[in-house]
This record gives sequence, C-alpha cells and structure tokens, in this order.
Amino acid sequence: RSRRRWWNVVTTVEEFEETAETTVERLRQVVDAMVVEMHAGLASEGGSKLKMLLTFVEKLPDGSENGIYYALHVGGTNFRILRIQLGGQRSILAHDVERKPIPQILMSSTSEEFFDFIALSLKEFIERKGDNMQLSQDRGKDLGFTFSFPVKQTSVSSGTLIKWTKGFAIEDMVEKDIVECLQKALSIRGLDMNVAALVNDSVGTLAVGHFLDNDTVAAVVIGTGTNACYIERADAVIKCQGLLTTSGGMVINMEWGNFWSSHLPRTSYDIDLDAESQNPNDQGFEKMISGMYLGDIVRRVIHRLSLESDVFGPLSSKLSTRFVLSTPLMAAIHEDDSSDLSQVAKILEETLDIRDVPLKVRKIMVKVCDVVTRRAARLVAAGIVGILKKISRDGTGGISSGRIKGYKSGKMRRTVVAVEGGLYTSYTIFREYLNEAVAEILGEEIAPYVILKTMEDGSGIGAAMLAAANSARS
Ligand code: ADP
Repeated sequence: RSRRRWWNVVTTVEEFEETAETTVERLRQVVDAMVVEMHAGLASEGGSKLKMLLTFVEKLPDGSENGIYYALHVGGTNFRILRIQLGGQRSILAHDVERKPIPQILMSSTSEEFFDFIALSLKEFIERKGDNMQLSQDRGKDLGFTFSFPVKQTSVSSGTLIKWTKGFAIEDMVEKDIVECLQKALSIRGLDMNVAALVNDSVGTLAVGHFLDNDTVAAVVIGTGTNACYIERADAVIKCQGLLTTSGGMVINMEWGNFWSSHLPRTSYDIDLDAESQNPNDQGFEKMISGMYLGDIVRRVIHRLSLESDVFGPLSSKLSTRFVLSTPLMAAIHEDDSSDLSQVAKILEETLDIRDVPLKVRKIMVKVCDVVTRRAARLVAAGIVGILKKISRDGTGGISSGRIKGYKSGKMRRTVVAVEGGLYTSYTIFREYLNEAVAEILGEEIAPYVILKTMEDGSGIGAAMLAAANSARS
C-alpha cells in the first residue's frame, strides 16, 4: 500500500514536470508571442496586455556625467536615499545609500504628510553629508526619483499616479502629479533641488547599465515582482504618432509582468494561485516568474503530494497557508548540497511542520523546486530574447529600410542586457538557468554577442544618473 502511495507521488511530480516543461521549441513560441504583443502594445492604447508605456527617457547616461546627484527610491515598505558623485569616463567616485522604513501610518495618510516625511528625510541625509555639498554649490542638486507604482508619464520629469499598489492608500495622491507634490514638499523644507527625472525601477537599471556600457539596450528586474524596459525607435511607437525625439529613440517600460500567451506552460497550481490571488487574471507572467510567487507554487505542489501520500507524515496545516514557504527558503532547499539534505529537513520542520521524512522525500522537495525555478528562469530568457528579436538584435537579421539591423559590417553587434533584483542576484541556480537558456534559444553563433550584466542596487543609482543626464544644468 505504501509502495502504491509513493508511486502516486512520483507520478504527480512527473506530471507536473511535463506540464511545466520549457523545451527550446516552446520557448521560441514564447519569444514570438512576446514580439507580437510588443507590436500590439505599441500600436494602440490597450492593444495588448503589455502596456508598453512611454517613459519620455530619450537620453540615457553615457558615462560622461560629472558632479554630485541625488536619488530617492520609493517602491515598497522601505525607501532609499542615495547620493552619487560622478567623475566622467564612466566613473562613480562616491556612492552613499540610506534605507529607511516608511512608517505604516504614512502609507494611508495624506500626500502632504507623505512627501514631507520624504523631504525631511532627504534634508537630514544632506545635512549629515554636508561637507561635500559645500564643494559644489551649483551642481549636485538634481534629483532622480524612482517611483515603482503605475504612473502615467507626461514628460521625463512629470507623471500622475494611476493607482496605488503594495498596501499604499494615500487617496488624494491618485491622478496627481507626483513630481509637483515632491517639489512642493522640498521647497517647504527649504531644499533647493530640482527633480530632473521620474522613473520606474527597470528604467533606472537600464540607465546604470548604459552608463557603464553603451551597448546596453534593455533592462530586466526580477525581484519580488518582474518588469523590463528597452530602447525603442521613436517611429515604432505607432500609438503616439509624430513622437519626435532628438535621439530618435525612447525607453519603453513594458510592464511585462502582465504578459500572457497560450504558449506559457501553465499548470493547475498556477491556475489555483491566480484564482486565490488579490489580482486574478492579472500579472500572469509575473506569477510564474517572480520572487513573490515561486515559493508558493512549490508549497502548492507539496500540499498536493501530501494529500496523495503519507510519505510526508500527517498532513501539516502549514501546507494550506499561502506564502508560508518564501522564495529565499525555496532557494535554500534547492541549493542544499549536503549529502543527507539536512538543510531541507530543517526547513521542512521549521517552516512546514513536516518532520522525519526519508531522504527520497527530501529529494522530491529539491526536484519540485528545480522544476519551478527552471521554468521561471527559462521564461525570463524567452522574454529577453523576445525583446532582442523585436529590436533585431537576436541575430535573425530583421531587415528594415534596406539594411540589416543589429549587424555592423556583416557582424552581429555586441548587445548588453542589464539585470537586477534579488531573485537573479541571490539565487545562483536561477541565474545559471537563465543565462543558459538565453544561449540555448539564441544558438551558439549569436549567444557570444549577447551579455547579461548584473546591476546591484542599479535602479537607485540609475535614477541619479538620469537626473544627471537630464539636468537643466548639463
Ligand atoms: P524588490 O522587493 O524591490 O523587488 P529585491 O530586488 O531585493 O527587492 O528582490 C527581493 C526579492 O528577491 C525577495 O522578495 C525574494 O523573493 C527574492 N530573493 C531575495 N533573496 C533571495 C534568495 N537568496 N533566493 C531566492 N530569492 C531571493
């Protein structure tokens, strides 16, 4: 009888693995679906689940920037204040960061109170670093603002809040110009600073990537959530006819977490996760990929297994609690390299109340984590190649206006994608699967030309660099 139950476990895991499979053929279908949706999102407002938002960022930092710049980063429960000193020639001479929790009460207060807290925190930060400020009276007062909520951008330094997410509820802010609110709060606190750039976090990542390496054409964030942006030709943005930019290009914020395609390898666990989420039918790509969800997909599979078999011991009630198994814990299970999987046993016991399971069951745990992470990483890879294909940097040689784009004198051009976020930087196997899949989809001839570069803390620094590149003074 117990043999039979073990067989159930094996069959269920195999079934899961099969449904979640990401063969290179399937990934290529996802690549093509991404390209189709990008076109649709650029063609008309609401033309695709991909919003393809205009950022009005036309001028990315190129490394020549000089001086002291500040940035504020508001995106979750913590907010960050940064100061960087740039020295031209791609050099960052100094870099200070301060993290500060946003008091819960302010998250549902008024916009005046909220921005006053931010302005005051910035003022205190500047006072502490006062000595350096004296050195550059005329510069160093440009500020970049990373604001990771849905914003309808009206210029590189203005935009209105569409809606709050992540537990924020400052109602009077909705539809107000965010930069105006911040600018007013700064002047009340006597800070003579100019908010020169308002950006989403992926745009910040692209900016720092481009500062360090001018071949950077796209950026991806894979942390709690996921998003991507890239440099598009202005004339490809059909929905905004007559969009004139000096550089002929503009950064497009894809909001790719909301991408969807019938080619995505969706399992019953994904369907349940979505149905029970706060935003059903929304952010479908993100729910298969990002740090907020991966651990919970694993939990759902283990829950099913322990209903089908007693090899996990008595059914633990923890297994029906959403989000008990966080993604960092899942990574720790996956990366346990001890011969008896003692780390897995410890997490099973401490987090899921599952004790004394045999080694073969611990191995099943590791297997499930592997399937979930491999799929996530490979889908991100397909998304990245989709972007490259859209801009003819995937080597398939899209021919446009008579010349082969992406090629210079018959050769494929070096192409860099900046990547940031805890899932990529801290989860080694995820990162390896992602890099491997990009090479697999591109093929060995093209793969050497495409480089993924990690940007630690890039989005904040990038916002300060964008302030530099868009400074009225520069
Ligand atoms: P943000 O919350 O702004 O996205 P990060 O980019 O730092 O911040 O990403 C944090 C997320 O990254 C966490 O929610 C978690 O899901 C994931 N993460 C962090 N560390 C690890 C780790 N060691 N292994 C796996 N995932 C991790």
